[in-house]
Amino acid sequence: MSATWPKGIRYVYVGNVAGHEGNHTYCHHCGKMIVERTGFIIPTYQIEKNACKFCGTLIPGKWS
Ligand SMILES: [Zn+2]
Repeated sequence: MSATWPKGIRYVYVGNVAGHEGNHTYCHHCGKMIVERTGFIIPTYQIEKNACKFCGTLIPGKWS
């Protein structure tokens, strides 16, 4: 079992480096942190309809 990885599980990629500073997203208008990525968990998510929740500026990117 040890060498067998089920297909579809992709834990091994850049995003799983916990505490990587460059993964956070800040609003370019008000400067608040709108997405805080810690590994594959996103504890902070302040985007609503592709816009910053604080000031309403549209944030370029792919948000689902
Ligand atoms: Zn903003």
